[in-house]
Amino acid sequence: MKRRGAGQPAVTEEMARADTWAGVADEALSALELIADELAEHGSSTRVLQRVAGAVRSLVRTEAAGLWEADEERQLHLVAGSQIALSVPLSLDRGLVGACAATLTVVVAGDALPSGDPLAESGFVSGAAAPLIVGGALLGVLAVYDRATRVYSAAEQRVLELLASFAAALLYARRAAAEADDLAQALAQEHERLGHLQLAVRRILEQPDTRANLIEITQALQALGWGSVTLTLFDENQTVTERLTAGHAQSPGGSQPDGLVPEEVWTRYLSGDLEASRLYGVYYLPADDTDSLWQPADLVFAPLRFGQHGVFGVIQVQDPVDGLRPTPESLRALDILASQAAYVIENARLLDEAARSAERLAEQVDELSMMHRADRELGAHLNMDRVMTLTMDWALRRTRADTGLLALMTDDRRGLVPFITMGYLDQAVSKFDERNPWPLDLGAVGRAARTGETIVARGPAMDEEEAHLMPGARSQMAVPLSMRGEILGVIMLASSEPDAFQENDASFLERLSRRAAVALDNARLFRQSEQLADDMAVLYSASRTITSTLDRDEVLQHIAQSMAVALECSSAVIMDYRADTHEARILTTYRVGTARDAQEILPEPGQVIDLAGLPTFLEAIQHQRSLIIRVADPALPAGEVFWLQQRRIQAGVMMPLVAQGELIGVALVLEGRRDRLFSSNEVFKVQTLASQASVALRQSLLYHEVLELEKIKSEMIRMASHDLRNPLNNILGYIELISMSAEASGEAGAEIQEYVASLRRSAKTIESLIGDLLTLERVESERESEWQVFDLAGLIYEVVEGERAGAALKQIALEYERDLDSAPVFGSMTQLRQATANLIGNAVKYTPDGGWVKIRFTQSGQRLQFSVQDNGYGISPERQARLFERFYRAREPGTDHIPGTGLGLSLVKTVVERHGGQVWFESEVGRGSTFGFWLPRAHPVAEQSASVTR
Ligand code: ADP
Repeated sequence: MKRRGAGQPAVTEEMARADTWAGVADEALSALELIADELAEHGSSTRVLQRVAGAVRSLVRTEAAGLWEADEERQLHLVAGSQIALSVPLSLDRGLVGACAATLTVVVAGDALPSGDPLAESGFVSGAAAPLIVGGALLGVLAVYDRATRVYSAAEQRVLELLASFAAALLYARRAAAEADDLAQALAQEHERLGHLQLAVRRILEQPDTRANLIEITQALQALGWGSVTLTLFDENQTVTERLTAGHAQSPGGSQPDGLVPEEVWTRYLSGDLEASRLYGVYYLPADDTDSLWQPADLVFAPLRFGQHGVFGVIQVQDPVDGLRPTPESLRALDILASQAAYVIENARLLDEAARSAERLAEQVDELSMMHRADRELGAHLNMDRVMTLTMDWALRRTRADTGLLALMTDDRRGLVPFITMGYLDQAVSKFDERNPWPLDLGAVGRAARTGETIVARGPAMDEEEAHLMPGARSQMAVPLSMRGEILGVIMLASSEPDAFQENDASFLERLSRRAAVALDNARLFRQSEQLADDMAVLYSASRTITSTLDRDEVLQHIAQSMAVALECSSAVIMDYRADTHEARILTTYRVGTARDAQEILPEPGQVIDLAGLPTFLEAIQHQRSLIIRVADPALPAGEVFWLQQRRIQAGVMMPLVAQGELIGVALVLEGRRDRLFSSNEVFKVQTLASQASVALRQSLLYHEVLELEKIKSEMIRMASHDLRNPLNNILGYIELISMSAEASGEAGAEIQEYVASLRRSAKTIESLIGDLLTLERVESERESEWQVFDLAGLIYEVVEGERAGAALKQIALEYERDLDSAPVFGSMTQLRQATANLIGNAVKYTPDGGWVKIRFTQSGQRLQFSVQDNGYGISPERQARLFERFYRAREPGTDHIPGTGLGLSLVKTVVERHGGQVWFESEVGRGSTFGFWLPRAHPVAEQSASVTR
């Protein structure tokens, strides 16, 4: 057996030297030409290989020839045989062909075939074989066989080799063609797949909504050859939010489809907790992978992720329709569709976000315009009801609240009084009022008022008692209304939803409440100023009532009444207090007419209360302090409580009446209907009233004293006039008797006559003094009830006529000028007759003989003007000031001899002023005087129009 390396240059040389080669070569060449023709005609087919085998048999002059092709496992299959039929493949270690394939060299076996050659069974004993090699790879073997031993010449071996390399080229071409065919087919398939994918993507993009898009994607995957497709979306907590299926994975009722990987398995792969092979973005775990958590079938899934976001979904594919395992192409398609799905979802999310931010923007615009309105409207209204109603309305409209409460802090800051309730059971909240306010330790409302902070509470966090007030409420929010650090109230909203109020609701309500607080404060200030104006009006009218009379009993009644009314109490009592005995005596009591249901028993006027047993009362009176009294007050001593309860008095205010530091009485304002509190404002009001009342009371007391004195004075004057007149008449009588007897004594009586004249003058002075005193007293004590409307012009005429005789005695010219026909005056004729007569009389009296006196009576507007001018002695400026004082006489030089009492002008002034007029005068020493007055003209019909004071 001879071995030679195939394709070696040495072989070529050796073959070239072979003597028979030239003939063989010719034959071989023509055979090859034939084969080439065949090849050109039929292509690289088995038929051409058959020709090669036939050509070898004839050229090598052998009995049989065969051509074997090696497969990938290096098994050799007979593809063309001449006189050889062998169905079984040959392996490398068997026989001639196997030895050639194993050594990759030409094997010549002229004596005996290598062992194991299956053709030995067919009677062959010798043969030669050449390997078919291209690019160092074995493609097959060309072999010849003979039934007898023989010598294969070098030329024959050369032909075998030549045809082997030819056959190798043929086989290679055939394989390449087949591969090219396969390749072309694969390319066509891929092309088709891409076409599908393209179509799918286009259709996906055309879908109107996300869901339709995703359905399209799953269906596209199904069309690409997956029997079942599941698209699962989950949120950040790995909770499934959406599941779409296509193909037979669809299961009724939305339960988890069969064969679907549970979320936790995906999660573990996605997090890298478990290893998985990946191609593109797709996870692929073959069913036979022992590490796979998912054994029943291949696990193929693609995560859905976009940009920086984490994985938010998974597409799992199962059951390929052709039962094949996934190819890189199919995984690539899944990857593309998965990223498409991710894109679609992200797009939808962005759209959603855009829509939401548009919505938020709209909300913000809405809120801004609401705030703007709130500013405008709240600023424009000083009406508290309106301000609060608007606030509550806005709060409810903007949030998802079902119910709302707006409560205001009480003046004493003990709690809150519901002002507006919306959607509440009225009786639940209406139990809270000024006297029994919503406590500051109750619920979110109380907490917001206490801390000044916004409170947002969900169902379980809600205060139990408060929750009881709002049946059905499962969440609430309370925001304080504060102004300059002071809590004015609380707005509370509640909802039947468990988590209705979010951060933005709270900040909205805070903004709204800031505006509401400003408006509330304004409204409160306005209300306070209104209240103040009201109080002032009450106080003013009360003080007018109190001071409208000087009658002490009336003043006391007015004080009691105005105090009870001002405090809205049912009654009032005024008492005086004796410091030495600690006793209070009831002066007056007053019960408000409308307080019919009042139960208190008022003491009788005149009754005396011993304050020794009532220390709280006594102390307040002694220190001139006001005192708020409540039976319910635990600090009130038992004595006082007993005293009040006995009289069924529930509450009240004790107010000392103090004038010029002196306690002149005590007012007790009482409430017999219910317990009540008194605000500082109310106490202030009653204090103001008390100080005015005190002044009025003091005035009336003084007036009383004056009245008493006047009474005494009148009595004295009357007594004096009565008691003096009789002895004076006696004196005057005896003066005349003495005068008569002196006259009778003749010369001797002349001296006595002189004394008697002096006596007479003194007695007459006394007489006129008594007369004037009586007149004055009469004028002052005369009652206005006797007044009437009369014609003053007529009266003056009478007086002037009466004075003419006196004037004539002194040769004084008396002129009377008037420019009016009637002069109605409301008043006393006696008094005015006396006044005018005094003035004319004085003018005559203080004018030397031969002078003149001019009387004028005129009208200017509603005033009647009366004046008396003379050209008498006149009065020097230093004496003018005191002219109208009682008993004052000017005593100018030259007037010493003129008798008078100094009461005349004083009487004129009193009378004129009583009639609502005024007196006046002008005077110059040596030139004369003018005395005059004016009086209001009376309305002839309505007598009351003449203003009259006492
Ligand atoms: P009498 O009784 O003294 O007249 P009157 O009160 O009438 O008292 O007057 C007070 C004083 O005024 C008189 O004493 C007198 O000095 C002065 N008097 C009053 N009228 C005149 C007058 N017409 N001319 C000057 N003096 C007058």
